[in-house]
Amino acid sequence: MRREWHQLSHPGVGTTALQTSRPSTDSAEDSALGLDTWRELPRLQMPPWPDMDEVASVCRVLDTVPSIVAPYEVDQLRHRLAEVCEGRAFLLQGGDCAETFADNTESHLLANARTLLQMAVVLTYGASMPVVKVARVAGQYTKPRSAATDSLGLPAYRGDLINSLEADEAARVADPQRMIRAYANSAAAMNMLRAYLAGGLADLAGLHDWNKDFVRASPAGERYEAIAREIDRALDFIRACGMTEDEALRTVSLYCSHEALALEYDRALTRVSDGKAYGLSGHFLWIGERTRQLDHAHIDFISRIANPIGVKLGPGTSPETAIELCEKLNPQNIPGRLTLISRMGNGKVRDALPAIVEKVTSTGAKVVWQCDPMHGNTHESSNGYKTRHFDRVVDEVLGYFEVHRGLGTHPGGIHIELTGEDVTECLGGAQGIEDLDLPGRYETACDPRLNTQQSLELAFLVAEMLRG
Ligand code: PEP
Ligand code: MN
Repeated sequence: MRREWHQLSHPGVGTTALQTSRPSTDSAEDSALGLDTWRELPRLQMPPWPDMDEVASVCRVLDTVPSIVAPYEVDQLRHRLAEVCEGRAFLLQGGDCAETFADNTESHLLANARTLLQMAVVLTYGASMPVVKVARVAGQYTKPRSAATDSLGLPAYRGDLINSLEADEAARVADPQRMIRAYANSAAAMNMLRAYLAGGLADLAGLHDWNKDFVRASPAGERYEAIAREIDRALDFIRACGMTEDEALRTVSLYCSHEALALEYDRALTRVSDGKAYGLSGHFLWIGERTRQLDHAHIDFISRIANPIGVKLGPGTSPETAIELCEKLNPQNIPGRLTLISRMGNGKVRDALPAIVEKVTSTGAKVVWQCDPMHGNTHESSNGYKTRHFDRVVDEVLGYFEVHRGLGTHPGGIHIELTGEDVTECLGGAQGIEDLDLPGRYETACDPRLNTQQSLELAFLVAEMLRG
């Protein structure tokens, strides 16, 4: 039997493998856990639902559906992130900025998963460090927006769980029924990914097949092929010695994550197991830069679930705020529970991050430090596209490594927006994508993603930084 979701590798976690959860609506236990306290609190960026009765009726459906993930998997991820926290592993998280129902296809999901797995191979091999793989998938259907209207004056697109990308006034009205579609699409995505992973999608013997044709001949594709050949030789060596290949070479765990923004959705998919609340809409949930106010709804809700969670920290974050977030979100100081995701911009990371890391470290707070080099580096191209330059992305990661090396802390991971397609959304990289190339294949529903080559190039650079 392959060791995948149903069979656990982490010591001590196996005992919870059969732990079950039950829907948690309106019970005394739920109120003791404070799962609905957020409803009384101020909140930003919540979906502008026109009809709360309809929201309530949709949530009654979601209250009892089978969850997207299981509690033991959530615990397993927290244990793996504890390894990152202690400096023994690296966290690779990535995927679309915004998933869409239309692009929730087998080919898109596989392309993204393969790209993430390729990056993981480069990092694992290059840095000789276990890599925890978390996809932005199976629930990344909501977006915080900096303006309520878009450039056409229409209500802003807020993600497929809330409204439609279609440039039409009526299509932009928030529709609670979309939560059901988001749930169904997420369940289908996880079902497919689990099946392919269990069937050998991540089998190291098939490394060469992961390289997409359009990448194979590129410099990053060739470097990847070289690593794949070396791994082939290592596998041949193992076989020649008469050792059998371990299951670990054939399977990986790929966890799913999304921003917890539409709290009605994530609350409805929360289940109580063993006296603890688990947000089972995904393994890892994070709170965005725009919704991390300490006394607001999002921080309250996420503080009450047992999942590993993250919070984005922009360049304006004070060290005191970072400490308060640690106290509120991880009062028991459990390693692997909390990931602080800095997204400062390449021009600010070297100035803004050190004081935060220093202060958090001095209090003894256990956190995973992760760098999101995307969201602080967005600009508008000369021809009006929202874009990011590969050089700035790389420079922010470099700055983040410099800061952590300087302070003796572990640069624990990266958080990337990427796709397994040959899109032209971010500038630069070995392909030298320029402003005028952007319209060629600009397909994102929200923020610009690194394409497959750029993602692989980044992985090689990060592997060098980790080695260095
Ligand atoms: C995101 O991750 O897509 C996002 C909106 O990030 P941030 O909250 O950092 O702006
Ligand atoms: Mn984004």
